[in-house]
Amino acid sequence: MGSVGVLSRFRRAWSTLSMRGLDASDRSESRAVMGANNFYILTALANLPWAVVVMAHNGGDFILPGVTHLAMVTVWVIALVVNKRGYTPWMSAASIVAAIAQYTFLTDVFSRAAGFQFALFGMPALAFAMFVRRHGRVRAAVIVLAAIPAVWIYLDGAFAHPWVTVSDTWLDWSAAMMVVSVMILLMSQAAFADYYFNRERKHNSALLAEARVAAHTDALTHLLNRRGVAPRLIEAAEAGQYCVALADLDRFKRVNDVLGHGAGDVVLASVAATLEDSVGSKGSVARWGGEEFLIVLPGLSLVDGEATLERARLDLEARFREDLGGSSVTMSVGVIAAPQDAARDEVLRQVDAKLYEAKASGRNMVVAGALA
Ligand code: GH3
Ligand code: MG
Ligand code: MG
Repeated sequence: MGSVGVLSRFRRAWSTLSMRGLDASDRSESRAVMGANNFYILTALANLPWAVVVMAHNGGDFILPGVTHLAMVTVWVIALVVNKRGYTPWMSAASIVAAIAQYTFLTDVFSRAAGFQFALFGMPALAFAMFVRRHGRVRAAVIVLAAIPAVWIYLDGAFAHPWVTVSDTWLDWSAAMMVVSVMILLMSQAAFADYYFNRERKHNSALLAEARVAAHTDALTHLLNRRGVAPRLIEAAEAGQYCVALADLDRFKRVNDVLGHGAGDVVLASVAATLEDSVGSKGSVARWGGEEFLIVLPGLSLVDGEATLERARLDLEARFREDLGGSSVTMSVGVIAAPQDAARDEVLRQVDAKLYEAKASGRNMVVAGALA
């Protein structure tokens, strides 16, 4: 139980540190800040004890490289603090440059046999984790800055011999530890990239799902909108004969005039809910425009389609008779029964004509007919 507590506390502390300065509005900057913070924490944890242990153990010749090493770790800690205020590419650049300088210096002091130059090989990968695309030039400069000493170290004989007295065993151990450290560094950067990529993928698919729903839904009534109902029309036509109805509220301008536009909106939303209740599982109700609704009834005959809309018309009349005291809300409806192979534009044109007939014949009625 104790170890689980320590582990989760450690994880929480790490994520608090690595998420310093995250700006949710710019996700690629957040990634760069997290990538940099992870690097600072991970490498400071590994480098600080190294400098302290080596200085304490060897003293003398090891003091200068130890002090410069502590200076590099200090730059990283400062960067971690500065990153709290947001994305600071110049701080990332300073941190990497400090590392390049220090590892080149360590190679000079201890010779290439000590393996400190391996750290330079990890820098290009770090540059990708710590800079966003927008700072591609800084990224490229950092990569070149790491490549130059890496090549120089292998061409200049001065790097072949240490200035300090070190045993061959010490050099072997140092090189082996450097290989392991660079492997851990690269692996942790890759793991972080993988983690972040997955997190973004999940986030994006959630956003996409939300956007899809929003694109097909009317914000006021929560009914399908025109785009949302289009596939329902196609599906209904593919399945066989079907009915399409177009309903338009009667004298709705008056409702707005009497109650105000805001109350008119509330009435519209309520009409939409009533319509959906009346139609139920028989079909889909969509907001076609202002106060016009399109109803698709797959598989229904003309008689059933007309009966369904007549039921809905009566429900609406009853719903608002008590509620709005005096000013009633009714609708006129056109219904068309269409065979499977009917052209959709023609169906819509004819259902509009039926609605016009209902309006012309005195409103608050359903006029139905088969496709002519
Ligand atoms: P008719 O019986 O001939 O249909 O009369 P009408 O007053 O309903 O006339 P029409 O259908 O041409 O006008 C629709 C009115 O519906 C106009 C507009 O004020 C109102 N309307 C359309 N969309 C909205 C909306 O989103 N909210 C509100 N409050 N009113 C709307
Ligand atoms: Mg109207
Ligand atoms: Mg209208």
